[in-house]
Amino acid sequence: MDGSRFSLWRTAHRAFKVFNKEKKLNRYKASELIKKAFPAVSRSENSHVNVKGNKSPYDGDTLYWSKRNSKLYDGATSKCLKRQHHSCGHCGLKFMDDERVQLHHIDGNHDNWEPKNLIAVHHSCHQHIHTGKTGKV
Ligand SMILES: [Zn+2]
Ligand SMILES: [Zn+2]
Repeated sequence: MDGSRFSLWRTAHRAFKVFNKEKKLNRYKASELIKKAFPAVSRSENSHVNVKGNKSPYDGDTLYWSKRNSKLYDGATSKCLKRQHHSCGHCGLKFMDDERVQLHHIDGNHDNWEPKNLIAVHHSCHQHIHTGKTGKV
């Protein structure tokens, strides 16, 4: 990195901070402004500022986590999850927490592992199925 480029980067970096702070822009907008103002440093600026946010279980993107975490399951459960679009077969809500996903045998025969006979349900829904008055076991 030569000296002039480095000082330009520092100027841009300082401007980035100023934009960010004083104009209350989000990071993306601030870096776009910097790119326009200092096109020569866009590359180093890009490597310096990582605008790709980290996914967290709390950002509302539950489908992302359901898909990701379904890898932890054996084939039968993940097939069920896929077929049901990661929704509970009983209440229809998306799975939020994989520990609560259980497989229910529709015909009550726990040796029947036909895909048709299996639905993925929440733990609480599963209890409801079995303690409810549907007569199914
Ligand atoms: Zn449910
Ligand atoms: Zn069951």
